[in-house]
This record gives sequence, structure tokens and C-alpha cells, in this order.
Amino acid sequence: MNNIVNNKFGRLTVLKQISYYRIICLCECGKNTNVTYSHLLRGNTKSCGCLHIERIKEANTIHGESVPITKEYEAHSGMMQRCYNSKKKQYKNYGGRGIMVCKRWHNYNNFLTDMGRAPSKYHSIDRINNDGNYTPKNCRWATQSEQNRNKSNTKMNKYIVQYIRERKAKRSIIIGELNGICSIANYKAIQQKRTWKHI
Ligand SMILES: [Zn+2]
Repeated sequence: MNNIVNNKFGRLTVLKQISYYRIICLCECGKNTNVTYSHLLRGNTKSCGCLHIERIKEANTIHGESVPITKEYEAHSGMMQRCYNSKKKQYKNYGGRGIMVCKRWHNYNNFLTDMGRAPSKYHSIDRINNDGNYTPKNCRWATQSEQNRNKSNTKMNKYIVQYIRERKAKRSIIIGELNGICSIANYKAIQQKRTWKHI
């Protein structure tokens, strides 16, 4: 068996051969790692794993939006998830009720061009018409308090009242579906017909 101690394979320098198959190496990043000799010789193993992680980060880097991701990139992926990933908790309030992202914005760079950067870290993406889609016309950066004000602008109407009375689901689910239009107090008053008595 050749003495391969101190030989270099990619980022790995051999420290010790512990069996014919197993080699302890020191990686350039400072970590020790136990690797398979044949993988090392064939060039399949070139680092402790740090090289692989770096490649993944590079692949996820979109036009300078590096890891850790920017506020705008986070807003974009959150929006896509809410509208198209039915496994996400918030989906029922977005994709689940027909809210979509315009085709142009399926591309992150178009989204960034149209929206610009968020004015501060307290701003997030807000739809002006709460029943409308994510489009350049219907979206703006807004703080949470601006968004709450916007939501309460959607007034109760007879269709919502009917929905509240007829929908067979837990109170919390219904209030969630109505996304800020209906509070608990409001819900109770409507159910007990203390308000909207004529519906
Ligand atoms: Zn390493």
C-alpha cells in the first residue's frame, strides 16, 4: 500500500489511512472528514461536503440575490407559495380562493423591476384590492398597519353574511378565510342575528 499521507485530493489533504478503505482527511475549510479511499482516488470526493454546499448556494443565487436572501426575494417566493403551494397553511386564503400571480411575475426579475425594492424591512407586499390578483397595478409595498387599514376597508355585505351563516366550519377557519373582514365579535353578532337581521 502506498503511503498517501499528506497527498492532496481537491480540498482534502490525507491525514491518516485507517484501513484499506477508509481515510481521514483534513479539508481546506478546517473540518476533518472520514472518506472512502476509492472515492478519493476516483475524484468523487473532493471536500468534506463544503464544496457541495457552496454549489447549492451558487445555484440558488439569482441575479445578485445571494444567500441569505433579500427581502424582495423572500416576498416573491412567499407570494408564489401562498398562491400555488396547496401544502402551505396560508394557501386557503390565497390560491384556495382563486388569488393568482400574474404571468409576468412568475419571473422574479420582472417582479423586482415592477415593484422596486421594499422601502424598509417593515414593508411587505400588499394587494390594494384584497380580492384581486398579484399584479403590478394591484400591489404595493406597505407596512402591517397600512395593510390592516386596507383590509378593514372591505365592508361586510350580505354575501359575506350569508357565507358566515351557511359555511359549516370552525369559527377560526371562517374568520381566517375572510382574511380580516370579520372579527370574532362581528362573527358572533352575525350568527346570533344581532346585526344583519334582514338576511
Ligand atoms: Zn470542507
